[in-house]
Amino acid sequence: MDIKKTKVFYKQIKSDDLCNCTYCKNYIREIKSTYPKVSEYLSRLGVDIEKPFETMPLEPDKSGYIEYICSQYIVCGTPDDFMKVMVDSISVDIAKSYPATTIEEVHFVIEVYPIRLKWVM
Ligand SMILES: [Zn+2]
Repeated sequence: MDIKKTKVFYKQIKSDDLCNCTYCKNYIREIKSTYPKVSEYLSRLGVDIEKPFETMPLEPDKSGYIEYICSQYIVCGTPDDFMKVMVDSISVDIAKSYPATTIEEVHFVIEVYPIRLKWVM
């Protein structure tokens, strides 16, 4: 993987570029403080945890939490020897299926799961 390119890629993503739906907004607000270790791990790959490519939310439950089946992030370069890891009981793995990306450079997609966040919207 190309950590340098990945960092540049995430830097140029503006908040306007991110999905504006309530589920994604909630995700972006809560993810870093809820999973600081996952955020740290992703940032070592050059990935900004607050700029997901895709989230797959369920509905908020009665206790005020919401589960996301997974969230996905773009990483520049090729997976090389990337292996599934567990960070804070969260899996980070290479995604096999994901929506079409519009990036021309070589990249792959990783997914993070399962995610459970406070529903603050
Ligand atoms: Zn969204």
